[in-house]
Amino acid sequence: MKIRLGRSLLWRNTLTLLAVQAVVWVVAVAVASDDSRAAFLVTMVVAAISVATILILATLARSIGRQTRRATDAARRFADGDFSGRLREDAADEFRELAVALNAMAGELDSSIDALQVQTSEMFSILQSMSNGLIALDRDQRIIRLNAAALGMFELADVEIRGRLLQEVIREPALQDAVKASLKSGVRHMAEIPFARSTRIAELVAEPLTDGRGVVIGTVILLEEITRLRQLERIRTDFAANVSHELRTPITSINGYAELLQETDDPALVRKCGDVIVRNGQRLSNIIEDLLTLARIEDPERRSVLELEAISIASIIESVVDSVTSAATADDSSTPSGPEIIVKIEGDPRVQGTRPLLEQAVGNLVTNAVKYGGPTRKVEVRACVIENEVTIEVQDFGDGIASEHLDRIFERFYRVDRSRSRELGGTGLGLAIVKHIATALGGRIEAHSRVGAGSTFRIALPAL
Ligand code: ADP
Repeated sequence: MKIRLGRSLLWRNTLTLLAVQAVVWVVAVAVASDDSRAAFLVTMVVAAISVATILILATLARSIGRQTRRATDAARRFADGDFSGRLREDAADEFRELAVALNAMAGELDSSIDALQVQTSEMFSILQSMSNGLIALDRDQRIIRLNAAALGMFELADVEIRGRLLQEVIREPALQDAVKASLKSGVRHMAEIPFARSTRIAELVAEPLTDGRGVVIGTVILLEEITRLRQLERIRTDFAANVSHELRTPITSINGYAELLQETDDPALVRKCGDVIVRNGQRLSNIIEDLLTLARIEDPERRSVLELEAISIASIIESVVDSVTSAATADDSSTPSGPEIIVKIEGDPRVQGTRPLLEQAVGNLVTNAVKYGGPTRKVEVRACVIENEVTIEVQDFGDGIASEHLDRIFERFYRVDRSRSRELGGTGLGLAIVKHIATALGGRIEAHSRVGAGSTFRIALPAL
């Protein structure tokens, strides 16, 4: 806004009074030369006008002083960011213009500051809600800004860290090296930084901050935690390696015995080769069957189309016990009595599930209990409803599982005793399948064991 400054009020009034005085003096001089009375009168008039001039000037000076003070106070308030009041715009001449100009300036400043505040708070909310960590540093590696994700990533308390040196606040050598490299090179720098005091890993992108002339004045660091991603990649690689290994063993056996079969006419050796080939063929098909089952349960699309229905756990246990008993008796001709499986069911536990999945989960646990349950071959299967949960427990009285293995036995291909599992026809996938079925049906699995006293596996599912 343009402010037009005219001649001041004081100046204009003073000029007018001086002009009047000059005219009176001229008349007085003219008259005084012949007539002393007239000269006296004129002198009086001039004196009166002079006094009036002084009075007017004093009044004007006071008024100007007051208005200037008001304008100065208002300007000071505006400078301090207080836009609550405005100047009165009813004064005369320049002061009215000044008041209008100051008020307009205050209005513009007020709305600009409001807009800036809105922008700042929007920016702040965006930074705070980002899932990636963000750290802005100046050229001396002092922290300009650090968002909530970065605080969480480095487990920092939300104290005042603005202005402090990065290395003082975050002691991660890999992060400091990456920042130094970024500030030195002045170009985008990317790195993977392993955390010094944990197994976590983050991906870092450091983007240099430059001024208008392209001089590096700091750097902005974006951090994304990739620990879970790396874990998943490792699990996938391990899994592929495990599958290859598991398949290679029976295939090698089949190849070896098939070659032997080509070269021999000995009927005993031919029978032996045939047995080994059939057993390993069966093993291959068991592994592939279990892998396919796992893939089916894990596939979220297939899981969502599972047609769940109300299933009685008693009927599941009954059919599992029947099939495990007959299979165990048929497999082991040395113990014609078969395993002793005691069933205890309280009430009528029912869950939402599918019969094949539930039979497979309970079947795997009961088969393991018979396989690893020691010479007594005694197994207890219990089911009941506790609050809103159905629990199915399978207990054996065998050697048990040492605590260092207990946490890992639900991992694919994990076995406590690899050769014993193979000997018993295990694939190392049975418990992983049970875990995935329990999870798919909205439940969980737990294992409790004491070495020498046996193990209890418990599936908990939401009750109907
Ligand atoms: P496997 O096909 O080898 O039986 P599982 O996934 O069913 O594979 O079990 C993994 C491992 O957990 C087994 O190899 C065995 O070492 C151990 N295990 C499972 N159930 C029992 C049990 N009831 N008692 C002792 N060890 C068990």
